[in-house]
Amino acid sequence: MGLTGFRGLYPFVKKNAIGEDIKQLKVAGFYNVPLKLKGIIQSEPVVRIGDAVKQGTLLARPAGKFGLNIFSPVSGKVLNILDKMSPEGEYCKHILIMTNDKDEVLDMPELESISDINLVNRLRDAGVVDTISHMPSYLKYAYTGSRSYKHLLVLMDSTDPNSTVNQTITEFRMEEVVNGAKYFMNMTSAGQITFVFNESNYRLAAKLKKHILESKKNYDFKIKFIPNKYPFDNPYILSSLVLRKKITAKSSFLQEGIAIETSEACYNFCRAVEFNKPVISKIVTVDGTNVLRPGVYNVLNGYSFKNLLNDVGIESHDAKSQLISGNILSGEALYDTEASISLLDDTILFQKYNILEKVKESPCMTCGKCISVCPVFINPTVLDDAFISGDYDKLEKNNVHSCIECGCCSYVCPSKRFLAQRIASAKYYDKKRRNWR
Ligand code: SF4
Ligand code: SF4
Repeated sequence: MGLTGFRGLYPFVKKNAIGEDIKQLKVAGFYNVPLKLKGIIQSEPVVRIGDAVKQGTLLARPAGKFGLNIFSPVSGKVLNILDKMSPEGEYCKHILIMTNDKDEVLDMPELESISDINLVNRLRDAGVVDTISHMPSYLKYAYTGSRSYKHLLVLMDSTDPNSTVNQTITEFRMEEVVNGAKYFMNMTSAGQITFVFNESNYRLAAKLKKHILESKKNYDFKIKFIPNKYPFDNPYILSSLVLRKKITAKSSFLQEGIAIETSEACYNFCRAVEFNKPVISKIVTVDGTNVLRPGVYNVLNGYSFKNLLNDVGIESHDAKSQLISGNILSGEALYDTEASISLLDDTILFQKYNILEKVKESPCMTCGKCISVCPVFINPTVLDDAFISGDYDKLEKNNVHSCIECGCCSYVCPSKRFLAQRIASAKYYDKKRRNWR
């Protein structure tokens, strides 16, 4: 991967969910809180059927290496603990809460001081998740020593074709974001925060600068812009663009001393430190051709996709409409609208069937388009062939693990080849084969 001249795609989708504050949803009667997120983060229940809970009561504690504290989104009663299908199609435990009308809230205890140890513990105890690495946020600071990080980048918006979550939080929750960023900085030895914006967002960056200067916050920061090209906010590309530091599949962010956070993580961290609030909801962009009221919504943990679609309004009830978790290039199609939205969901798209392109693969015509857009300079066609023929040596030789699963290659392929999907599978099976992790 070179340091400059990254490939990728310029904006090609009109973002509808933009420019308005985060919308709150009315409280539902039931919440089915999942205890496994994206097949990685796992938790085990600490409540029993029949227990009364308040909003903020601990429902589940970390199970295993990548565990997370999970809290009740509402006050009510634990109605059941059951195995249920996750949006990814995997059965996992869920805690079913029936809401009552008491609106009881349980906050975390006040922090005694904001020492780095206390801050890392608060990050862990509050259940803050990192939507970039899909891990609990505290892990990168706890296991390695938070002081190992010399650079702190905070993503204030996105070059993603659909997501507007970070941009909206930056715009409408600026005070919490800058305070949360300060807490992240206090844990590291960075000494300075680099706020990163998409170059199309000069206005928001100027607003942030004015906010920090006027509020006389005593901290060192700088603002950097990256080109408005997808997927330039990917951590691997970001590190090269902003810090001129190259991270490869064989090196790590820790080795280079780089911590990357988002404005959403800063917002959640600030709420945990200053207001003693655990994470009980996820802020998501809801958009797509079949959505009547696109926007950025605050969704309580355990809310179903079905309820959310009712709230945002659906234009066509055609059963073939497609629900997607993630962006239009690399999102996953979801089949069960009864499933619960996860704390790791960032974008939810609902697309009308009639405008979706019919996807039928045909043989590669060697046009080279996929190679010309791959942001990490690998050859999707070679990897595709290697995976189909089961040639793992060839996959490794051609840097399969450098793929960041952005989906650019499949998006531009005129033969509609499932390049990104197969390369992602190749990475997965190769890791399994070598018993990584
Ligand atoms: S999905 Fe992987 S191979 Fe395809 S363009 Fe993105 S990084 Fe390159
Ligand atoms: S874009 Fe599609 S058709 Fe063109 S070289 Fe790549 S795989 Fe082949």
